[in-house]
Amino acid sequence: MNLRALIFRRPMLLGFLAAVLGLTALGGWMLGVATAAGDFGMPDAMGTDPFTWLVGGSLVLVVLIALWALRPLWGSARVADGGRAMRADRSHAALAAAARRLWSAPGSGQGDGRKSGVVRRPAGETSLRSYKVALDHAPMAIMISDADGRIEYVNEAFLAYSGYRREEVLGQTLRMFGVGRNSKALYRDMWETLRAGRSWRGELVNRRKCGSEFWEQLAISPLRDEFGEISHYMAVREDVTERKRREDGLRRLASIDSLTGVSNRRRLMDLAEREWRRATRFGLELSVLMLDIDRFKRINDIHGHATGDRAICLVARTCVAAVREIDVVGRYGGEEFVLLLPGTGLAGAREVAERLRAQVEELVLEIDGEEGTLTLTVSIGIAALGSADTLEQLLASADAALYRAKSSGRNRVVAVADCCEGATSP
Ligand code: GH3
Ligand code: MG
Ligand code: MG
Repeated sequence: MNLRALIFRRPMLLGFLAAVLGLTALGGWMLGVATAAGDFGMPDAMGTDPFTWLVGGSLVLVVLIALWALRPLWGSARVADGGRAMRADRSHAALAAAARRLWSAPGSGQGDGRKSGVVRRPAGETSLRSYKVALDHAPMAIMISDADGRIEYVNEAFLAYSGYRREEVLGQTLRMFGVGRNSKALYRDMWETLRAGRSWRGELVNRRKCGSEFWEQLAISPLRDEFGEISHYMAVREDVTERKRREDGLRRLASIDSLTGVSNRRRLMDLAEREWRRATRFGLELSVLMLDIDRFKRINDIHGHATGDRAICLVARTCVAAVREIDVVGRYGGEEFVLLLPGTGLAGAREVAERLRAQVEELVLEIDGEEGTLTLTVSIGIAALGSADTLEQLLASADAALYRAKSSGRNRVVAVADCCEGATSP
């Protein structure tokens, strides 16, 4: 803090120091006068000794400084009488600054990492009032808090948006809207950015008074006082729940296979990568099943694509039903599926695969537009973590085992360890 700020921001401290100095000087002076009067028997010693005049003059000066420095005390008395509080004045200045920022050049200070502008006192009361009216009726929800995060101002749009009454939010912190679903790291980043004097923008889940949760985008800017110190924060809040829903829907669409509803190949590979990292890092087991429908081309050729599609869906559903919730089923290609079994070794995977093979064999597929039904069989290749150094190798091993299952007669399960010895026959 510089000297100017010290003088203007800490007048009470200065007043107190001046008062202590003044009282010390007064005591010394009185002692000096008493000593002079006693020594010389002159009752008017203070009137004749130039040193005494000097001390007296300094004392008056110190008292005047003390009175000037302590003037905020009389100011607060005036506030109690209905005058303008210094604090209110600062809030007012913050409002004006907030309004100026809102209607200033686009992008200024919004998430750009620049230091926010210094608040200068506006030209007059009229402009202050018009700034406040502008903020009160701004179309976006605005909230201004003090440097500790306590809410000092909210506009009409904010009240409509949050469902709270003004008196319910003033003096509260952002926490009152929280639902505990936002990460601590998010709040840490927010406060670090703001305290460093930069604007922060982010999305978090909050709650309205009625309890409903919603996604909001928050843009917060620090406001500085005339000494360059952060005195307030202004937050502009916007409900982005609808956009979030749309994005979630799109993300879901981008990762789900539209025919079967299981993970598509891209999502499958992401999940496989994640499971691979987890298993190798913590020394856990992981198995991969690669499954392909036998002689599927014939189904397409004889009964048409629609029947083929239904066959693919039926097998996908059977796969999902055959494994645990933590297992992953993904469509790897046309009528080829990959199943990831975290925490499962080769023996466990073989059991799952054999059960699945048997369940598919039991399926009855109605033929599209025709009388009669069809049966299906699948071949399955298995590989477990120990047989590969990379995820690609693991998938390649499972593929090699599948190839072996096909070439040794189909409708069977082959684990990579059996590759050279033969397959598990039905
Ligand atoms: P194999 O026992 O050796 O696996 O013989 P296959 O006839 O099943 O041979 P393959 O697995 O190579 O055949 C896959 C066929 O699946 C080829 C392609 O026309 C068909 N196909 C791929 N995607 C779809 C799809 O989405 N719908 C339908 N109906 N057919 C598909
Ligand atoms: Mg096939
Ligand atoms: Mg195939």
